[in-house]
Parts: sequence; structure tokens; C-alpha cells
Amino acid sequence: MSIYAILLEEVYYNFEVKKMSDQYVDILGVSFYNTNRFQFVQQLDKHIINNDKVFVVTANPEIVMHANEEPKYMEIIKKATYIIPDGIGIIKASRYLHRPIEERVPGFDTMIDLLNLANAKSYSIYLLGAKPGTVDKAVLEIEREYPQIDIKGFHHGYFDWNSTEIRQEIMEKKPDLVFVALGVPRQEKWIENNLPYFEKGIFMGIGGSFDVIAGEAKRAPLTWRKMNLEWLYRFIKQPSRGSRMLAIPKFVIEIFKQKVNERK
Ligand code: UDP
Repeated sequence: MSIYAILLEEVYYNFEVKKMSDQYVDILGVSFYNTNRFQFVQQLDKHIINNDKVFVVTANPEIVMHANEEPKYMEIIKKATYIIPDGIGIIKASRYLHRPIEERVPGFDTMIDLLNLANAKSYSIYLLGAKPGTVDKAVLEIEREYPQIDIKGFHHGYFDWNSTEIRQEIMEKKPDLVFVALGVPRQEKWIENNLPYFEKGIFMGIGGSFDVIAGEAKRAPLTWRKMNLEWLYRFIKQPSRGSRMLAIPKFVIEIFKQKVNERK
């Protein structure tokens, strides 16, 4: 490609493509909802008011690669109401593909925004996931920090997959928000399996967030987060995640390929 063509493409990008902000942006077959943190929480609030049933997936490059390698997981996340971009890699890829996504909507921050919303409006929640002692601590912490939230129930994440006890409890108590912290891909599988039984609620997979609320795991310091290096911090703290991080270079290669294919 000549320099002239590259320059022309950049000019086109700056003046035309940027103006068209698509509501959904496809990144390697995963359709991301293009929004920002503030708007997204407002949107979820409207769903709560309407008693809707909503499935939220927060996806980073690792999850996009997992979905590309596991067709069953791709099928599950395709059933989500919203897939939001949790990771700077998704934002960078969207810009590189000239379909820019507005900003990162990280799962942990979204959960905190939703806890604040629930506290302000006295919404009810249910917590599912993490180790028994951890979820207990997270509940105590939420009760202390967000006293107006109605905690309808909670359960640790090491249950018999065939048991219907948790589903039954959620069916009866009808919480406004259900946070599912079973890690990827379990949490999305659990939501997809059980969703048909529920009448309403926002169901969202939130990975290891209860560990953070309980004070058993630390988030990256703010400076690292501002530099978009949260992923590196997690790797340094938990080198056992190393093999999972191999998904990142694979993601970069696949994005290159997508761009080349789109140019053909
Ligand atoms: N977990 C769980 N049940 C399981 C496996 C894991 O509740 O069968 C919990 C685990 O205790 C931790 C969270 O799921 O709190 C996984 O956190 P991680 O940071 O690994 O999430 P991911 O990066 O996979 O989203």
C-alpha cells in the first residue's frame, strides 16, 4: 500500500468513519455494544424499571479468542443482550478496524456503578460465586458500604451443577440484579442455562470481583489502570494466568488478518 493511500485512509477515518458511531461493533465475530459507562448503567436502570430480563457479558481479548476457539461458548455469548468491552485491547482493535468503540466498560467498574445505583434506588441483588468464605465477606462489605441495597440472597460458586436449589431461590426472590462470579466460561454457561427460568433481572458475569470486594484480591493500582496495564498487573500477581495470556498475541494476529481480509 502506498503512503498516499495510507494517508488518504487516515483522512477518511478522521472525517467520515469517526462520525458514524455504530451501535454494535464486530470484533472477530463478537458483537460489542458501543456505549460508555454512564450511559450503560442508565440503560440497565431502564431495564430494571421495566422488569426486563437482561444478560450482560463483559468481554476482553481473551474471551473473544475463547469464543473463536469454542463454538459452544460463541453460541452462548451470542444470546447475551449486551456484550460490553472490558479491556483496552478491544478498544484498540476497534480503532484499528476503523469502527471505534467509545470507551472501555470494565466489568468490575460496572458492578460498582450498579451497586451505587441499587443503593440509591433500594434495588435488590443476589450474589452467586467465589469461595464460601469469600462471598460471605463480600456480602458483609456490601451491607456496610451500600446499606440501602436489599440483598435477597447469596451462594458460593462451588455447587453441584445439576442442583436446582440456587435457580429455585432466584426464581422465588426475583432480585433486580444477579451478579455471577464463577469465572469464564462457567458464569456465562450458568446464566445461559438458567435464564429461561427467570421472569426478570439483570444477570451479569463478573469473574473474580467478589474476591476484590472481600479484600482477598487486589485490583491494579489506579496508575496502572490509567496506563491500561491492569492485565500486566494481574499477570505479575498471578503468573499461573500466563497460559491464558497467550490469547493476547493470538488476538492481535487475528485482528491483523480481519483488517487484511476487509481490504480485499
Ligand atoms: N469460581 C467459582 N466456582 C468455580 C470456579 C471459580 O465460584 O467453580 C470463582 C473463583 O473463586 C473466583 C472467580 O470464580 O472468585 C474466578 O475469578 P477469575 O479472576 O479467574 O475470573 P475470570 O478471569 O475467569 O473472569
